[in-house]
Amino acid sequence: MASVDEVKLQLVKAAQTLFECGVMSHSGHGNMSARVDGERMVITSVGNIRELRPENFAVVTLDGKVLDGHLDPATHEIVMMHTGVYRTEENTGSVIHTHSPHVTVFAVANQPLPTAYEAMLRMGLASAVPVAGWAPRGSKESVTNITDQMRANPGTPAVLLGNHGLLAWRGDPLATARLIVAMEEGAELVLRARTALGGEVPFPPGALEKEMAHMAAHGSRM
Ligand SMILES: [Zn+2]
Repeated sequence: MASVDEVKLQLVKAAQTLFECGVMSHSGHGNMSARVDGERMVITSVGNIRELRPENFAVVTLDGKVLDGHLDPATHEIVMMHTGVYRTEENTGSVIHTHSPHVTVFAVANQPLPTAYEAMLRMGLASAVPVAGWAPRGSKESVTNITDQMRANPGTPAVLLGNHGLLAWRGDPLATARLIVAMEEGAELVLRARTALGGEVPFPPGALEKEMAHMAAHGSRM
């Protein structure tokens, strides 16, 4: 089990990856968390995740109680968005929210993000990333909309937040950042295919199973 300090460093590295890969919105807005053990998580305490420092995090229980650090009201309101994912998907190790620009085009249109790009398939995204309907940021309604989509789409590692952005989760911060990079690339490609070439072509049936078997045979990992 990683320590609080180790988890903070993992989150800093994941944030750097998001900026280095160019998948953040102009504002640099986002929030990130990682589970430390069954009932505790480390979460960002600032709304801009560019140049995160170890003091920009708080340790919070999955019930929302702050154990260490400080959350201002604007960051406190998103805690339940993160805990809702950990509570619904037991194997989740990290949750990241961004306004990645091309993915957010689909979010503002309230349209699921199709999987038509190899990199998304290799991240385990066999079907479209669903949209959780809009409700005020961090509200009980918005969290319910997210967890409803998780239950309706078992195994999905992400949802789009209607009129807002994305929420993604994986086993650790870097894997979650890589998933967001693949989604942002996929969203950009689908939009370009629709503009220039008549649209994306879906994968054939069974593509995920085929890809996973191929990756397993070569020792590749998601
Ligand atoms: Zn946001």
